[in-house]
Amino acid sequence: ARLKPDATTDMVCGYCATGCSLRIHLKEGEAVNLSPTSEYPVNLGMACPKGWEALSVLDAPDRATQPLRRNALGDLEPVTWDTALGEFCDRFKSIGEAYGPESIAFLSTGQMVTEEMAFLGALAKFGMGILHGDGNTRQCMATAATAYKQSFGFDAPPYTYQDFEESDVIFLVGSNICIAHPIMWERVCRNKNSPEIIVVDPRRTETAMAATSHLAIKPKSDLSVFYALAHILIREDWIDRPFIDASTSGFDEFVAFVQQYTPERAAEASGVDVEVIESVARKIHEGKRVSFWWTMGVNQNYEGVRVAQSLINLALMTGNIGRPGTGANSITGQCNAMGSRIWSNTTGLLGGRYFQNAEHRHEVAEVLEIPVERIPTEDSWPYHKIIEGIRTGEIKGLWILCTNTAHSWINQSDTRELLDKLDFLVVQDMYHTTETAQQADLVLPAAGWGEKEGTFINSERRLGIVKRVRRPPGEALPDFAIFRLIAEYWGCGELFRQWTSPEAAFGLLKELSRNRPCDITGIDDYAALDHAGGAQWPCTEPVANVEQQRRLFTDGRFYHDDARANFLWDETRAMPEQPDEEYPFLLLTGRGTASQWHTQTRTGKSPVLRKLYPANIYVEMHPADATLAGIANYDEVSVRSRRGELAATAFVTPTVQRGQLFIPMHYEETNRLTLPHFDPHSHQPSYKDCAVNIQPL
Ligand code: SF4
Repeated sequence: ARLKPDATTDMVCGYCATGCSLRIHLKEGEAVNLSPTSEYPVNLGMACPKGWEALSVLDAPDRATQPLRRNALGDLEPVTWDTALGEFCDRFKSIGEAYGPESIAFLSTGQMVTEEMAFLGALAKFGMGILHGDGNTRQCMATAATAYKQSFGFDAPPYTYQDFEESDVIFLVGSNICIAHPIMWERVCRNKNSPEIIVVDPRRTETAMAATSHLAIKPKSDLSVFYALAHILIREDWIDRPFIDASTSGFDEFVAFVQQYTPERAAEASGVDVEVIESVARKIHEGKRVSFWWTMGVNQNYEGVRVAQSLINLALMTGNIGRPGTGANSITGQCNAMGSRIWSNTTGLLGGRYFQNAEHRHEVAEVLEIPVERIPTEDSWPYHKIIEGIRTGEIKGLWILCTNTAHSWINQSDTRELLDKLDFLVVQDMYHTTETAQQADLVLPAAGWGEKEGTFINSERRLGIVKRVRRPPGEALPDFAIFRLIAEYWGCGELFRQWTSPEAAFGLLKELSRNRPCDITGIDDYAALDHAGGAQWPCTEPVANVEQQRRLFTDGRFYHDDARANFLWDETRAMPEQPDEEYPFLLLTGRGTASQWHTQTRTGKSPVLRKLYPANIYVEMHPADATLAGIANYDEVSVRSRRGELAATAFVTPTVQRGQLFIPMHYEETNRLTLPHFDPHSHQPSYKDCAVNIQPL
């Protein structure tokens, strides 16, 4: 009876970009339990284990409850907010005075609410004069964002989740949505068209096992296969000429390019038979509503932008875009990666604008009522250049928010050494125990999901509400409140007089969105958004009047000045680190479970979720390879690359191909092995291809 709720309220989950709504059960205004919201158009009454456990992780004993400062003995000790903010400003200012403002950078996240990440970007760049800032979306969605911008003219995933239910061919690439986005998979299962489900993935994942066809390609051969599919579709004249002529550019040049990408060449590269490639092309041709979906298997790839665009090309040439059940559809990772992509003010200016564009800078300055000279005229460095800048001595001070760089960034040992080289490292996080916080000079305790308000934008461009249903522990504060304090202590508070609350910031974002593709001027306020059950951008009409399921490009017009979409391509390239005699296996990394999230910073705090997943790191290995190496199931083994080594338990399973190993990304040790190499367009790390060896311990 003590916890019997007396009210409920609905809000969006704070883990993945599905954006499920959770019904929070309240007792005297505080959350005591939750269940999935049955009426919400995204999840229709469903939630995955992480969502069900979302409240429990707020109660973890290692929550950061006070600011912490490293003392002369090297220990983090509690200090007051006044001391912490004074230290923050004094040390960053003195670094800026000594080495210039380019010597300070920030790294943020796709997990803060949009209003906070926009405030952070405005404060850091327009207030504090920082030039370089990026987010952990560089690790997950940068490739998709870049591919869309180049192809469509704006970072615009065209779909709505209803498309999972309306397709008759669902083409999934590098996307294990059964566990990575389980509610989206439930939407696939509700499809009544008996769809062909074609999965392209080197591993026999849970999704591949449920597919009607699984193309178990060799890693990084996907681009050859998709060019070969284009080759066959053109050869057979299975293309939509009227759509191509009316709505696209570059098709004739693309036709000439893919002549060389024969099915035979793709079969050689991928290990998939010519007949299978031909039959997939036929299925795409015979489908009335074909949708192409991808996730990290494409994005985390040294040629990921071109792979994403090879899927976009297939959708364009067959006219599978802008209609129900179609699209070239990037499934986003984090709950607010889309907010970050458009509103973080890191490598792009607010609202999907460009720093180099004078008109864009004036638009932003006018809405924010700040001098236009405050807005940088050049892009920030991307994440890897910021990290590399520490090595070269160009970056001396770093502010990391709501992400765990020391765990998740590629080639971890090197990254940790570099973080130790900084003159000043500030970490702003919910927990003081993350690997990154443990290296910090100053830790600022932040409120988490459920302890503050704002909005997230999910994979299908839907804005959803986040509410304060718990008090933050101790002296922890919402990031928004921390930014307001920093602005005052820094001496630039007057610039941010309009940013009085998350909802006031939402009003600014609405104005900044006006006449942009992401226009949300039809959403009056949080109450209207809450009442409507979220709304997809664009939303220029009153939110109550717009359709709940909308897709882009229904009129065949895209966002480039000529309203056309571009065909884009490049030659395929070989993996930079091929397996050899010394390191004969190729290591794949990725999500291992529906019950853990990324670095387990939050989900690792839930006893329920911990029980659903092995606590200790494991490596999957093919039975034939295991026999040759003298390794049995559950043996302890050592896995080594040119960059590091880890000990793991062997899981002997045919879900990986011979010559390949798989280790989930959730474990602290995984990125000791990975090779730092990046897509040249998106600068996203390629986490899924490095050479390793494995030996019994
Ligand atoms: Fe839904 Fe993703 Fe949250 Fe699970 S983690 S409940 S799938 S939003």
